Amino acid sequence: MKFYSTNNNKKSFSFEETVLKGLAEDGGLFMPEKIPPIEKDFIKNIEKFSFQEISLKIAESFIENEISESDLSDIIANSITFSAPLVSIGKNLYVLELFHGPTLAFKDFGARFMAKTMGYFVAKRSIQLNILVATSGDTGSAVAHGFYDTPGINVYILYPRGKVSLIQEKQLTTLDKNITALEIDGTFDDCQRLVKTAFVDKELNEKLNLTSANSINIARLLPQAFYYFEAYKQILNKKLDSIFSVPSGNLGNLTAGLIAKKMGLPISKFIGAVNSNKVFAEYLRTGIFNPRPSIQTLSNAMDVGNPSNLIRIREIYSDILKEMQNDIHSESYDDIQTRKGIKEVYENYKYIIDPHGSVGYLALRDYIKFNQQFNGVILETAHPAKFKDVIEEELKIEVQIPERLAACLNKEKHTVELSSNYEEFRNYMLNKN
Ligand SMILES: *Cc1c(COP(=O)(O)O)cnc(C)c1O
Repeated sequence: MKFYSTNNNKKSFSFEETVLKGLAEDGGLFMPEKIPPIEKDFIKNIEKFSFQEISLKIAESFIENEISESDLSDIIANSITFSAPLVSIGKNLYVLELFHGPTLAFKDFGARFMAKTMGYFVAKRSIQLNILVATSGDTGSAVAHGFYDTPGINVYILYPRGKVSLIQEKQLTTLDKNITALEIDGTFDDCQRLVKTAFVDKELNEKLNLTSANSINIARLLPQAFYYFEAYKQILNKKLDSIFSVPSGNLGNLTAGLIAKKMGLPISKFIGAVNSNKVFAEYLRTGIFNPRPSIQTLSNAMDVGNPSNLIRIREIYSDILKEMQNDIHSESYDDIQTRKGIKEVYENYKYIIDPHGSVGYLALRDYIKFNQQFNGVILETAHPAKFKDVIEEELKIEVQIPERLAACLNKEKHTVELSSNYEEFRNYMLNKN
């Protein structure tokens, strides 16, 4: 399979180039030249396959022979190391728990697969890479953990000072070795701007061999398609239409779901559930894209004012708005509603949902209106313990912190403080390397 940049569909790239570059030199995002259909028989027999077997099948159809089957199989065995259980909370109503990885967020899937894939190519080429990641919360820690101690790869994580939760900050700033946390005096969009500017800075790129690890890297995106297949496998009544509600920010998760659908996975509708950062909901309604600075909310990993992956969704649908509207619905919920959602899910279903999942729940509820003739699936993207304070406030219960999270809370924070000025960031990177 060849890949192209969304800014120029004439030039094609191998999977290896695509993964190592992250973002195309012309500033575009990489996309596969076509979305490979998956055999109907595979879908029909999906219950016979393990999560890793499903993952291998999907990965192979994009990567083809660029990585041998046995190497790819190793990469998957080392990255898809935890489950994605579909928990039934009501009649035909499910929560897809994507938080069973090391940093308790769905980003562990993408980050680990990408880290192992990059590690594979870096070893093959005997090169040194510097990875830049802007994070509004969960990306950074998932990426840091995925790459931790990988030979030949240094990771710099840019996060907005004071705008991530204490737990998220601890997860970002308590690793050492090849991981450096940069604490930026600005917003997530500033962090993203610094990273994007660095990638189009020719001199810096040549000196540092830069690459990205955000949801824009194709190796982050692809493995996110795996768990949609895994979720479908676990649906009990496959005769009903299935609707998946995806708590969305940068739209990587939703894009991966749409790719799975295009491959032939029978999901009838996707809901792009957003918080008060509602650029995507507006776009889908009006066709007008009006990016703007992000607003801080409780579901802070979704605080994105200029969602990068929208361009990929537009590519998948050849930029035909009507077709996007057929497959996707989007709705926005503010923090007051998010809090109510957490309460409602607990009262009605005895399930503790985090603020991101709550936005997903609200959007699904309002879309299907409790109609049990659909399978409703809410993607739960973070473990509720990461948002302990809000949940305890709303539910008046104590939320247990899982062991793997508790461990990093006792470690000391290490960061480098920088302003949101590009020159300052650039000088830091040049002096460091
Ligand atoms: C990143 C993140 C999201 C948003 O996912 P996108 O792929 O950026 O749309 C939602 N929830 C959590 C917990 C996240 O970490």
